[in-house]
Amino acid sequence: MNLQVFEFNMLPTNTYVVWDEGREAVLIDPACYGPSEQQVLARFLTAEGLTVRHILCTHFHFDHIFGVPFAETLCNLYCEAHEGDSWWAEHNADEVRTFGIPYPGTPPVIGHTLHDGDIIRCGTLELQCLHTPGHSRGSVSFYCAAEGVLFSGDTLFAYGGVGRTDLHGGDYAELLYSIRTRLFTLPDATVVYPGHGPSTTIRTERNFHNI
Ligand SMILES: [Zn+2]
Ligand SMILES: [Zn+2]
Repeated sequence: MNLQVFEFNMLPTNTYVVWDEGREAVLIDPACYGPSEQQVLARFLTAEGLTVRHILCTHFHFDHIFGVPFAETLCNLYCEAHEGDSWWAEHNADEVRTFGIPYPGTPPVIGHTLHDGDIIRCGTLELQCLHTPGHSRGSVSFYCAAEGVLFSGDTLFAYGGVGRTDLHGGDYAELLYSIRTRLFTLPDATVVYPGHGPSTTIRTERNFHNI
């Protein structure tokens, strides 16, 4: 698996591009805000000769989906997200204003709905969708068992961090339950790529959480 991370927008949010040897790619959380960040992403895809097969959203908070409409047009695809975040799809333009950030353009809708256990295929890559609610109702993580890699969105961060639960649909007990039962049951060596900040491993985070 090849992987590139970009940090986009004012909340700095990680956008991941992963691709196989046939240069078929998955875009996770296209968070680019405005034309210059959009061009950084577009130029990278072109330079690497990548064909994007899926636009995946770990959840539908505005900081993770700023670049979705651009990516959908660029790649001629609809984004994929869990329907548990349909409230966010309808309210992102209002919510972002409470952060003092103007919404760029029209917020996207959930194009295809993801379900727990879905397998997302892209060339030789396979990602499993794990429903990990708590940060939001529709938060999911994407797990690649063959590569030992997890994209955890805002569910789990490095150095003992977990996602905030004070926004709509957040639930702290549910978040910890998701982490314990769905993420900390993955192999120790699994590398975790969160929605914000640096990568970590399941072993490291289990130690931080003393589980
Ligand atoms: Zn979030
Ligand atoms: Zn976030």
